[in-house]
Amino acid sequence: MEAKAEKKKTPATIEIIEAWCKGCEICVKLCPVDALEMRDLVVAVKDIDACTKCMLCELRCPDFCITVS
Ligand code: SF4
Ligand code: SF4
Repeated sequence: MEAKAEKKKTPATIEIIEAWCKGCEICVKLCPVDALEMRDLVVAVKDIDACTKCMLCELRCPDFCITVS
């Protein structure tokens, strides 16, 4: 078995268009590493270092508020 790949990843950047966010919390609930949180009904980045760039939040946000790079 292959040893756990210790991939040196570049840190993620998460852009949020706050004006488009309707506060549905889908992204917060979907994030597997709990990197997002709600702040006053708008999503915010809680822990950028935790983000694995899985893209779930970007893909599943119904209002296209999130861009992960
Ligand atoms: S890209 Fe994945 S890990 Fe990063 S904030 Fe979005 S859901 Fe969480
Ligand atoms: S999924 Fe989109 S609209 Fe819903 S809370 Fe997240 S960023 Fe806002």
